[in-house]
Amino acid sequence: MNVETIKTGKCPVCGSNEVYDNRNTTPANHRKFIIVSATKSFNVDSFVCINCGYFKEFIRDEDMKNEKLINKVKEKWNKTSGGKIG
Ligand SMILES: [Zn+2]
Repeated sequence: MNVETIKTGKCPVCGSNEVYDNRNTTPANHRKFIIVSATKSFNVDSFVCINCGYFKEFIRDEDMKNEKLINKVKEKWNKTSGGKIG
C-alpha cells in the first residue's frame, strides 16, 4: 500500500509541511486512551496540520505490535465487514 499519510510530516490534504504530533510528549498532553477491555487500552498518537486544520489519530505503533492487546481487540470488538451503512 502506498497511501499518503500525515505520518510522513506532510499534510495529505493541503500539502503543507506544518504538521505536528504529540508523540513522545508527556501523557498530560495526550487524548484519553481508547479502552479495549477492562485491563487493556490503546494509546493514541494525534497529528494535526496547522495550515489547514486536518487532524488524524492513530493507535500508537508499539500498541499495534502488542500481540496480547491485538488479540483482545479481536476477542472483544466486532470485525468490520463491508455491509450496508446503518
Ligand atoms: Zn493541511
